[in-house]
Amino acid sequence: MTDRGILVRGGYVLTSSTPEMIEDGAVRIVGELIDAVGPWADLRSRFPDDEVRGDRHSIITPGFINTHGHFSEALFTGIAEDFTLWEWFEAVINPTAPNHDYDMAYVGTLLAGIQMLRTGITLASDMFVCDPADQPVTPGVVRALDELRLRGVVAFGAADRRDATVSAILEEHTALREACEASHLSRFRVGIALLGAQSEELFEQSVRLATDHGSHIHLHEVREEVTAVRSATGRSPIEQCAYLGLFTGPTIAAHCVWVDQNDRDILAEHEVGVAHNPVSNMILASGVCPVPALRRLGVAVGIGVDGPASNDRQDMLEAIKLAVLLQRVDRLQATALSARDALTMATIEGARSLRLDDELGSLEPGKQADLVMFDGTSPALANIHDPFQAVVYCAGPREVSDVWVAGSRSVANGRVTNVDPLDVVERSRPLATKLARKAGLNEHSLLARP
Ligand SMILES: [Zn+2]
Repeated sequence: MTDRGILVRGGYVLTSSTPEMIEDGAVRIVGELIDAVGPWADLRSRFPDDEVRGDRHSIITPGFINTHGHFSEALFTGIAEDFTLWEWFEAVINPTAPNHDYDMAYVGTLLAGIQMLRTGITLASDMFVCDPADQPVTPGVVRALDELRLRGVVAFGAADRRDATVSAILEEHTALREACEASHLSRFRVGIALLGAQSEELFEQSVRLATDHGSHIHLHEVREEVTAVRSATGRSPIEQCAYLGLFTGPTIAAHCVWVDQNDRDILAEHEVGVAHNPVSNMILASGVCPVPALRRLGVAVGIGVDGPASNDRQDMLEAIKLAVLLQRVDRLQATALSARDALTMATIEGARSLRLDDELGSLEPGKQADLVMFDGTSPALANIHDPFQAVVYCAGPREVSDVWVAGSRSVANGRVTNVDPLDVVERSRPLATKLARKAGLNEHSLLARP
């Protein structure tokens, strides 16, 4: 007697494991885990009583791992498009950071999380950038992720350059950690907004916490950051983080655009995961991460959508496609990165960048049942010659039919199952207005430069 399971059938099951593809295959889910993966005919004859989802035209992939984002930006999209990163910090992040509250974190995460789930994201690795407030802010993120049933690896992106005290920052870290401990789907990391935005005292505390919990940090996004740290310390930010011991714990480093050979070797040696964010790198004119060179060194490079204020969509399929296109146009080489490479980065390599590849990131028995089903009846997927190219180049959010997180459907027939999107949209509007007003974001100069 076995438990009744769910058979998710696809004309193509792309496993991000071995074999990489099963034609007319299926994934069997029992409870929160993947029980079996194999040919449809075989699994159906073994489990004739299972519920069935999908058909011989669907495509099944592992859930996508969004390695970098900021739920703190969910309420200010479509603003301040004409800035490079440091100007954008001044214009957008510094004014908003002191004005977040728990409700904004909660509703903003619901708003961005709905968009993520609809594009196949099953895990969001996030850094909430704000200043500590009277009441903890970031537990609102965990509450929203639990309600959406979206997995989280969440961090509070701490900085004490805007007058926040170290003790208030540590309290916010603790509040977020405790919220994660009470959550089934979220886990905690120490967030470091930017090396140069932390005092020596705070960074020391960050390193201490990161040894146990791991960290999430921005590194080498723009040249100015590298130059500023090098002129202050004599080391690049990556060298400085290694020197001060941050990489003793698991680290996910966002961007790594301006990395010389020594920086790259350090990332590889310390198994630092890299979160590549092609859309925000293009919007902010930051540069191009040397993805193929890092991967050749063995560095795990995942893909991120980055924050809603610098992307502005929370669309993993857009980020996956642009990850390929950006390398090609940068190197003027059509083989610079392939659809298979990008799908690997969005799944098992993203999981490895977060050191979670033992638990998730591929379709294998015993792993968490996080998977995406693409709708084979969509005109965009009517004729499949190469399913990897079909997913990366042809599919958009419209083709995402169903998304399972820990064995339960968070998206069914293209709709999120656990919250009402209309209700979230309505609740977000007064909060977005309040945040924009408090931060002075409505000034004409931010909407478009003259
Ligand atoms: Zn970021």
